[in-house]
Amino acid sequence: MRLFSPAILLAAAAVAASPVTTQPAPLEAAASRTTTLRQADARVAAIGYRLALAGRGLCPTLYPLTGLVFHHLAEYLPADRAPMIRRYGLDRGPGVLIVLAGTPAAQAGLRAGDVLLAVNDQAFPSPAAQVAARDPDKWRPMAEAGEARLDDALRQGPARLRVLRDGREMEVALGSVPGCFGRVRLARNPKVNAFSNGHDVIVTTAMLDFVRSDDELALIVGHELGHFILGHPPMHGSDKLLASIGIRSGVFWKREEAADRMALRLMAAAGYDLDAAIPFWRRFLGQYDTDPQIFRYHPSLGARERIAREEIAAIRAGGTRSR
Ligand SMILES: [Zn+2]
Repeated sequence: MRLFSPAILLAAAAVAASPVTTQPAPLEAAASRTTTLRQADARVAAIGYRLALAGRGLCPTLYPLTGLVFHHLAEYLPADRAPMIRRYGLDRGPGVLIVLAGTPAAQAGLRAGDVLLAVNDQAFPSPAAQVAARDPDKWRPMAEAGEARLDDALRQGPARLRVLRDGREMEVALGSVPGCFGRVRLARNPKVNAFSNGHDVIVTTAMLDFVRSDDELALIVGHELGHFILGHPPMHGSDKLLASIGIRSGVFWKREEAADRMALRLMAAAGYDLDAAIPFWRRFLGQYDTDPQIFRYHPSLGARERIAREEIAAIRAGGTRSR
């Protein structure tokens, strides 16, 4: 959502790239903690899926949605990789972290813990090569290449997956449903933050603690998906520096406004409560009262309230998008 001072934004970019802080729920950790983190992962993923599916009429580019959330060997700390290999065979291919209920992946019988070996007889990129790359800037695109391979296959129709489950290989037929881009990931991070990095929408665990409802979370996720849908490039360090001193700040301001409007459109399509928006902005932006610099390149609280009010009124009037 890019509502942060440049320093925080830069920290956020580091989070996105770090295998330490974006690792999925550590499956070997204490059972209760694991369950909680997995539920949190599932919560953000489910909201992304619901917005992406319901909002498909708003998206110029459609993606095959499956309800699968992956985890990759390279995302784990080096010390945790051996147990992940032993327990799940995560050195063989992308692992299934979560199967969202009521999705094509659930209908196909896929389960958390499965590992995907091949799609339509084409093997997934080697997780060992990802780990060997070491540089997080390299392994993340490699992991995504595997997910993109599945997307490409699914665009042609149902895909034949070779799956490793409990040490045995099996075949599964997986279909998909068209929707907006909807991949949302949870990062273990103490900053109340959400952003897109060009590959994923990232929500921090601190943001999850900050929101009071799924409706508020849908606003955040919808805003970030909105940047994707509208084709906004991720902000780079140089953009942030320029924007922080007011240069090109109007460009960023307009993008934020457009993403806010898209978030409300997606929420309405998915049946979330639009009345959650303004109280959220008041609470969230109220944190920045003592740090007015961010408002050089982000709409002020007053502006955001006006944008939300206008868009909600337009949606409820059944009108076309006001922008
Ligand atoms: Zn934004």
